[in-house]
Formats: sequence, C-alpha cells, structure tokens
Amino acid sequence: MALRNILTAENPTLKRVCRPVTSFDDRLATLLDDMKETLAKANGVGLAAPQVGIVRRAVIVDVGDQMIELVNPKILESAGEQDGLEGCLSVPDHYGMVKRPNYVKVEAQDRHGDWHEYEGEGLIARCFCHELEHLDGHLFTEKAYHMLSDEEMDRLMEAQEEENA
Ligand SMILES: [Zn+2]
Repeated sequence: MALRNILTAENPTLKRVCRPVTSFDDRLATLLDDMKETLAKANGVGLAAPQVGIVRRAVIVDVGDQMIELVNPKILESAGEQDGLEGCLSVPDHYGMVKRPNYVKVEAQDRHGDWHEYEGEGLIARCFCHELEHLDGHLFTEKAYHMLSDEEMDRLMEAQEEENA
C-alpha cells in the first residue's frame, strides 16, 4: 500500500465526470487499498478516486467501525433532512453549511464486482452524498449556502479546543 497525493480544489481533475469502473483487477485493488491508507492518514471520513487523480467511479467511506469501498455507487433512496457543517480533504481549512438528506441508501460494487447495499444516517448519509458528488465533478462548496468566514472558523476552533481540553 502507498499513500497518494490528495488534489486540491484548483485542480481541474476534480471537475471531471468520472468513468465507471469496468476492470475488477489488481490495479483497482491497489487503488482502493491506497485510498484507504490515504484516508486514514488524513483523518477524513471519505475519499473519492478523483481526489487522488483517478477519474473513475470509486469511493471509500469510513462508517465508524470499518472503511467500506463503493465502486460504481448509486443512491437508491434518501429521506429526511440534516443541516450542518461540511468540509473536504480537497478544500483544506474551509467549512460550509450544507443541507443533506438524513438517510441515504446506496448500492455499489466491491473490488470483485459483487453488488452490495449500504445505508446510513447522519454523518454517514452526508458522506455518501458528498463523495458521490465528487464522481460527477462537484465539490461541497457549490452546495454550501454559507461558507464560514475566517472569524467564524477561529471561533469554531476555539470552541473545539475547549471541548478537547
Ligand atoms: Zn470531498
């Protein structure tokens, strides 16, 4: 396994519509393993292949007790609404308020091409939506109805530091 470089927002690769994965081969397995390692190192909750420069429909999501791999994922169902702060490993140090469904069910293939269904609420549902949008060339900053100012960020950081103290 190897760490991959995470591209940042100005990179045009992040605006491309990703192609479906068609070969379930060693290269895909290596990509998914590298993405898991990269996500763990970056302390994120999700990572999409275009964020490491690969224009293919593959995503890793940390669902708490494990990381799941979503190849060619599709949203089957969504319900409810949540409103909260969102960030992205490709948009470091910037956070914005984004409305998302509170419940999302997706279907996706694994590295062997087998189909599975996954469902999640709250942060996991938010993460499914966020990561799947990367595959169509979109960033959360397009969806945010309010991006936090530097001042608001400072206050948030202070509040978090107090929480962690
Ligand atoms: Zn992202």
